[in-house]
Amino acid sequence: MTDSEPDAVGEDEAQPELCDRCGAVIDDDSELYAVVRDSSVVHARDPKLDGGRMIVACSREHLRDLREQYRKLPFVDAELWSGKIYRAMDQHPAGMSEEELVHSLVYRCRELGLISDATASRTYQRLRALAGQPGFTAESVSNFPGEQPSLLGQAFDLASKETGLSVPQLAHELAWTSTRVQDLLGVQEQRPVLRLVQ
Ligand SMILES: [Zn+2]
Repeated sequence: MTDSEPDAVGEDEAQPELCDRCGAVIDDDSELYAVVRDSSVVHARDPKLDGGRMIVACSREHLRDLREQYRKLPFVDAELWSGKIYRAMDQHPAGMSEEELVHSLVYRCRELGLISDATASRTYQRLRALAGQPGFTAESVSNFPGEQPSLLGQAFDLASKETGLSVPQLAHELAWTSTRVQDLLGVQEQRPVLRLVQ
């Protein structure tokens, strides 16, 4: 999984920026930036940047329009979490064992101050005791492809027939990886469809 990830944070300083509202090219460094809340954005590496989309505008008016636009979008926690899970799976292409998943969950809970040091270390002890028992054997999460939303696939089919929408375009729009969009749509690869000529 090495496809180029649409990144929420602009890292390409040399490129002129485009206004996200009107598409105007801004090459005189006059662009204005803001970060808006967007549950469809997970950063490629840094979880602290999840849920925030960097927007670029050519003018104060367009920055205000864009902020207004994003303010109206619902912030869906489940969407953010699915992004985080996909990132974790992307980072562990060989799969993670259930134990590793629980370990990182406990670690994260401790980090966030949701549980005490004592609780965390008791949990680690308990996990060690359980290791190797049925239900706690190392089993790759990639064996569980999860539910595939078929309505989403149908909506995409329609959009691609009527407007020529492609997976990379949709991925860019959502700031997701193409792989993730393909997984969710149940699309393997975008290939021209061959039809027999009668
Ligand atoms: Zn503009």
